[in-house]
Amino acid sequence: MTRLALLLASLLVALSAAACGGAGASPAAGGPVRVVTTITILADMVAQVGGDHVTVESLVRKGGEVHTFDPTPADVRRVTEARLIVRNGLGLDDWLTHLIRNSGSTAPIVVAGEDLPGVTYLGGKPGGGAVNPHVWLNAAYGALYADRIAESLAAVDPAHAADYRAGAAAYGETLRGIDADAKGRLGAIPEANRTVISFHDAFPYFAAAYGLTIDGTIVDAPGQDPSASQVAALVDLVRAKGIKAIFAEAQFNDDLARAIGRETGATVVSDLYTDTLGDAPVDTYAGMLRADVDKVVAALGGG
Ligand SMILES: [Zn+2]
Repeated sequence: MTRLALLLASLLVALSAAACGGAGASPAAGGPVRVVTTITILADMVAQVGGDHVTVESLVRKGGEVHTFDPTPADVRRVTEARLIVRNGLGLDDWLTHLIRNSGSTAPIVVAGEDLPGVTYLGGKPGGGAVNPHVWLNAAYGALYADRIAESLAAVDPAHAADYRAGAAAYGETLRGIDADAKGRLGAIPEANRTVISFHDAFPYFAAAYGLTIDGTIVDAPGQDPSASQVAALVDLVRAKGIKAIFAEAQFNDDLARAIGRETGATVVSDLYTDTLGDAPVDTYAGMLRADVDKVVAALGGG
């Protein structure tokens, strides 16, 4: 569509919403605030903070892959119907920009992961310049996401502002409790077991918070499989540095991690949840964090 056609389309959406007087499925409708997020982790945060005042849907579905996501026409419609859109930012979900343009949506967009007060942002690769987007894998930082989501919900639905803030406060307590528990249990992992490699570069915030060292990744980026020589170099790295574990992730095939594990004797920690939720007990962000901590402790020692 041309820019003019898009403008007209968005104008028509706005006019039809006005004509309906807030009835039906228009973005201005009463009832629960309709929220669309890019990933399931953000959708759960919105549900925890918003409770009965919201309905929320993630564009990338449970088990899906955000970095290589390819939106469909149905996703355009979901965005059109949203009263609030929540994304992570930091390069994780840049495809949303195009999707919003196609939808003509004028709903406010919350960038939940950027410029959070008190977050130490980390580079994507050792020595790399780009900021790594996986900020939520520090549970205490997750509480900051919840606060920002609460303020955004309060802005679109001021009648329930107090409930959103109370929801974020209670949820933040839960997340800070998980953070303290993770610090204690992962802090008890023997020093010699603290170096790991991961499938993709999802763990720098987790590692910085809980005392692990990530010495490499199997893929440079999701969708970019390593060459045979890159795999051989990883095997050499694991041996040379005495790396104890390989973190495999639920949304990616773990064949390569297992092959490197067999070759080197490193422990493969399978089914860690990083960018997506799964089935119970990892169907919530809090459940995902707890399960990840349990799996890492079981593989590497600790409390
Ligand atoms: Zn990722």
